[in-house]
Amino acid sequence: MLIPPGGRIGILGGGQLGRMLALAAAELGLQCHIYCPDEDAPAAEVASRLTRAGYDDADALARFADSVDVVTYEFENVPAETAAILAAHAPVRPGAKALATAQDRFVEKNFIVSCGIQTAPFADVPDRAALDAALKTIGAPAILKTRRFGYDGKGQAKIADTADAATAWADIGAQPAILEGFVPFEREVSVIVARGLDGKTAAYDPVENVHTNHILDRTYAPAALDASLADEARAIAAKIVAELDYVGVMGVEMFVLPATSRGSRLVVNEIAPRVHNSGHWTTDACLVGQFEQHIRAICGWPLGSAARHSDAVMTNLIGRDVDAWAKIIAEPNAALHLYGKAEARPGRKMGHVTRLYPLGHRPSNTDR
Ligand code: AMP
Repeated sequence: MLIPPGGRIGILGGGQLGRMLALAAAELGLQCHIYCPDEDAPAAEVASRLTRAGYDDADALARFADSVDVVTYEFENVPAETAAILAAHAPVRPGAKALATAQDRFVEKNFIVSCGIQTAPFADVPDRAALDAALKTIGAPAILKTRRFGYDGKGQAKIADTADAATAWADIGAQPAILEGFVPFEREVSVIVARGLDGKTAAYDPVENVHTNHILDRTYAPAALDASLADEARAIAAKIVAELDYVGVMGVEMFVLPATSRGSRLVVNEIAPRVHNSGHWTTDACLVGQFEQHIRAICGWPLGSAARHSDAVMTNLIGRDVDAWAKIIAEPNAALHLYGKAEARPGRKMGHVTRLYPLGHRPSNTDR
């Protein structure tokens, strides 16, 4: 059951999340084998083995899974068939249920509601006619989101007025979608939660996320929530991983409604069955960060402490932001993480910086 030091972990996906997982695994004396189709894979540079093949290459997938003790992944759109091939040769953690749930927004929303947790009002929109019907019940403003393969705001169209329906339907590529009522949130928060093979969970403090152009720009740790709301956010995340019989780290994104709202102020927006960008701060501000926590969980090790020893602000270095690296390393409280990507294309995540502050002293998110 327990994969000891010296064990081998297979990681599907070769990006920065895979890279940071492989680094954390190396710290624990574990080896990583990366599987991805890409030529330049940031994760491959820090792992002991690389298989470059497609996610539909059944033979390569089987050989890869045979070469490791456990398989995990750094992106949620792992095709179900790919996961099934891998699972015939090695344990896949997190498992198929988490993937199936997180890959389809309609399934995901229904699952969250079945846990007794609040979501935005939503309706299934299999076709254009269903969009008009959904708009009648949900009303505008609303957001049309493709059921599958949406991320960083892609596959979404805002509908400010019911007259925008046709344009929105065309914008998302006329494909199965859900319509979501617009949530008048006060702030966006997330909880990074881990669940071990033994069913124990560890949730990090909720953090506040600020997006620019639909991409995460900054994470403030902790979020400015009162203690009971922070506890409720952690409990929601723990409930979700328990219901999925989940093993590994998950990011749970939530909206916080204004204090004047009736009922719970927390609305779950989406879940990511993997380590999450809004958890990058944990590497520097917690004894055991999200990457190590994920490795511990999938290897059957006990989870570590998710306690925060410092406040933190994590800033993504996107595109040319990375040119500031030399200035950043001169800052006494900054921890720089670069992903080794050669080309700083606009919108590309090149690295991140986590700035640490004594507990209770992080700058507010209005001090930009
Ligand atoms: P998503 O891809 O679902 O994470 O959505 C991307 C961003 O769009 C979120 O981080 C929010 O800022 C915004 N958003 C998504 N859904 C809603 C909603 N129902 N109400 C208000 N804003 C939303």
